[in-house]
Amino acid sequence: MEAITVLQTNPINSYLEQELDKRFNLIRLWNFPADQKEDLFKEEENKRDIRAVVTNPVVPTDREFIDSLPGVEIVSSFSVGLDKIDLGYCKEKGIRVTNTPDVLTDDVADIAIGLILATLRRICESDRYVKAGLWKKGDFKLTTKFSGKKVGIIGLGRIGTAIAKRAEAFNCPISYYSRSQKPESKYKYFPSVVELASDCQILIVACPLTEETRHIINREVLDALGPKGFLINIGRGPHIDEPELVSALVEGRIAGAGLDVFENEPHVPEELFGLDNVVLLPHVGSGTVETRNAMADLVIGNLEAHFNKKPLLTPVV
Ligand code: NAP
Repeated sequence: MEAITVLQTNPINSYLEQELDKRFNLIRLWNFPADQKEDLFKEEENKRDIRAVVTNPVVPTDREFIDSLPGVEIVSSFSVGLDKIDLGYCKEKGIRVTNTPDVLTDDVADIAIGLILATLRRICESDRYVKAGLWKKGDFKLTTKFSGKKVGIIGLGRIGTAIAKRAEAFNCPISYYSRSQKPESKYKYFPSVVELASDCQILIVACPLTEETRHIINREVLDALGPKGFLINIGRGPHIDEPELVSALVEGRIAGAGLDVFENEPHVPEELFGLDNVVLLPHVGSGTVETRNAMADLVIGNLEAHFNKKPLLTPVV
């Protein structure tokens, strides 16, 4: 049987590429210089040959891109978040879409707790303190306790629930906001983000990025969180109005922030670099070898299921 052609949009993971190469005729889009890229899409035959796209939330899979690939049947995303894929248009065109839920939940929840501890207990700052030889001159300043603090979660889904479970082990009372109250949940529900932020000491963003949730963290929410409140974001950068966050941090209107994601990655507002009450991570929520391999297996499993006419493992559309 002739190999099926799969187009990968950007470098994602070497194990993924290695396994795709074993099974498919893999085209690496980023290896085409701009002029050759045009040729790839100009030839009707080439375009029709491409039956699947592998991507992640770095590159938009928008109308224009989908229209440039008339033979595409499935988009398999190496992510749980689908904010860069035009799902409505894929549905309209009969293109299947899959993602990689569940396998990354533990890692992302772990990094959320890591960010809380790093931010409240100033772990990164105290590491720098020791390495700079400052300990010999005096003890490190006192920080603030995590155990028992009130945790508010925006988006009590797979990751939000895993964070809540972990925070419970730290004796933290948990509350949440989402579009609907979860009847099966024992945690306290707030019908608005402002009410949640007013009631908690650590506010965690764990919902998907949609038009509704873009800038869900705005000035009003930051002021509701207040000067003793901490913000943790493991969702997506555009959940936060970044200039508002920067001014809230600089002016001491919130106590600190732990951020894994940013509005314009890999660009991070430089005003944050000089702040010791902020911990910044380069979008590494799911970034372990084990999880990234499991995500790659799921991306490939979905493609294989599709081309073998079996039910998709994790269908979205
Ligand atoms: P999930 O299981 O689908 O959970 C999403 C939760 O968000 C649900 O409880 C949903 O509840 C809530 N939600 C949806 N729309 C909302 C809105 N407009 N306002 C408030 N809450 C809303 O998804 P997940 O697997 O937990 O993943 C969540 C997100 O984490 C992903 O979409 C992705 O952006 C992000 N993520 C980040 C990383 C990282 O590396 N930092 C890694 C993986 C995922 P309702 O339907 O009741 O509103």
